[in-house]
Amino acid sequence: MSDSESSPHKYKRVLLKLSGEALLGSREYGLDPAMIGRVAQEISDVQKSGIQVSVVIGGGNIFRGVAGASRGMDRSTADYMGMLATVINALALQSALEGIGLETRVLSAIPMESIAERYIRRRAIRHMEKGRVVVFAAGSGNPFFTTDTASSLRASEIGCDAIFKGTKVDGVYDKDPEQHSDAQFIEKVSYKDVLARDLRVMDAAAISLARESNIPIIVFSINKQGGFVDAVQERGRFTTISETKA
Ligand code: UDP
Repeated sequence: MSDSESSPHKYKRVLLKLSGEALLGSREYGLDPAMIGRVAQEISDVQKSGIQVSVVIGGGNIFRGVAGASRGMDRSTADYMGMLATVINALALQSALEGIGLETRVLSAIPMESIAERYIRRRAIRHMEKGRVVVFAAGSGNPFFTTDTASSLRASEIGCDAIFKGTKVDGVYDKDPEQHSDAQFIEKVSYKDVLARDLRVMDAAAISLARESNIPIIVFSINKQGGFVDAVQERGRFTTISETKA
């Protein structure tokens, strides 16, 4: 990172990964304006504390490629539809962020100049240095990938200090805590163990790329009010995935 002066925070530049599900609120499909408003406020709180924030947004609340493919659609076409879904979410988030006064740029991996800037790495970095929130849309731009992998890719490209993965639960467990009451919370875990134990917090490609770039992944609850701010400031409960457990 170019900015080398000391910062009161552990992080200077972070990437927030939000799944489409995070925007559902209590709905079954689409976008919940109240939920988007809350997420926008959390992003604003982190950004205003002096940390550069970028966001990769999923599209599962609207369309997932695998679901289309399972209904007989060509997988690549279905994945492009999934990527378009992430653009819809990115525009909704941009609108909410700008509504609370935060300068925001949507950078799309698939060029669509009328509604978003094309993703250019140096431009993304420049926007962040100028204090703008950058929302990465259309995942990696390639079918057969996920927005989790796109998160590791963008975080590696633009030099993020950490990836914050907002989920429904407050971290990584040894089994699904929504299904098993005896599920054990895991505070720290290595990339290797996430893969070996098949902990399913992010897909294997995303974990491997974060590992190669040595970017820690912090898993926290996006459903908890203030969850993002707390995780960035190392308060409350979250899981850290990094090279070593210590
Ligand atoms: N997708 C893709 N390439 C990417 C990112 C996403 O093809 O680089 C497609 C894929 O079909 C995926 C959909 O976009 O199912 C939505 O993304 P994802 O499932 O990662 O969203 P989330 O689960 O985070 O809501």
